[in-house]
Amino acid sequence: MAQSDPECLFCKIVVGEVPAEIVREGERTVAFRDINPQAPTHVLVIPREHHPDVAAAARAGTGLVDEIAREAQEVARGEGIGSDYRMVFNTGTGAGQTVFHVHAHVLGGRGMEWPPG
Ligand code: 5GP
Repeated sequence: MAQSDPECLFCKIVVGEVPAEIVREGERTVAFRDINPQAPTHVLVIPREHHPDVAAAARAGTGLVDEIAREAQEVARGEGIGSDYRMVFNTGTGAGQTVFHVHAHVLGGRGMEWPPG
């Protein structure tokens, strides 16, 4: 798995080539506000290394998905929404994935419905 893809939008955010409102940085992850927020809190947590989706990141077997989940919890705490948030990994175009660098959407600050649209 390539560590970085020069064509990837989120790899460009990781290196600062594309600006983003960063809310949290870890050794292996970066969290930044979604450009088109769907809730009062809408933050994307991504790994610094490039994996196209959550399944690929899990297959790498380095604990990265666990770390993304832990960072999502820290983002929610930092946003003042405690443990009330939704973490979403859209996986595949049919499920709404548009950026093929794994990212957890961390959404909160409003009521959530189920099932999602
Ligand atoms: P997906 O549809 O792949 O699950 O989510 C991609 C997310 O990335 C979308 O919610 C979209 O609004 C967000 N996004 C797309 N381009 C940019 C960008 O340049 N900057 C930021 N901060 N978010 C972006």
